[in-house]
Amino acid sequence: MKNAYWITNKYWHTIGRNNWNFATREGKGAVKLASHAETPIKRHVKVEGERSPFDGDLIYWSSRMGKHPEMPNQKALLLKKQMGKCNYCGLYFKDGDLLETDHIIPKSQGGKNELKNLQLLHRHCHDLKDSRLVPMTMGLSKRSGMR
Ligand SMILES: [Zn+2]
Repeated sequence: MKNAYWITNKYWHTIGRNNWNFATREGKGAVKLASHAETPIKRHVKVEGERSPFDGDLIYWSSRMGKHPEMPNQKALLLKKQMGKCNYCGLYFKDGDLLETDHIIPKSQGGKNELKNLQLLHRHCHDLKDSRLVPMTMGLSKRSGMR
């Protein structure tokens, strides 16, 4: 039985320059209904055509989600961070590839065992990186010759 004036005063408040916030109270600490424009746009990346979570391609789904029930959490996070690509050769990991976790700064040089010092590499790229005998550019041409 309240009139429009009472309702307006109770439910609509001034926050900043906006007089029409559906909120608990005015000023700082107010709890208010977010406006449409305040929700950041987060674009959805389409799932590739014939993909299914049941197709067994752990690498694809781990890269996409940053997690997979059959993939160790750390590997899945690294896959997502690297967007599914090997940091050494830059190629996408494929289902069945052997992945190894590498310390970017080697432990022998004080590198820590934390996520930001870790990267995923193909096993063969890891070997190349560790051997340090083959410069990276030579390694690339050598590898493409092996395909
Ligand atoms: Zn690689």
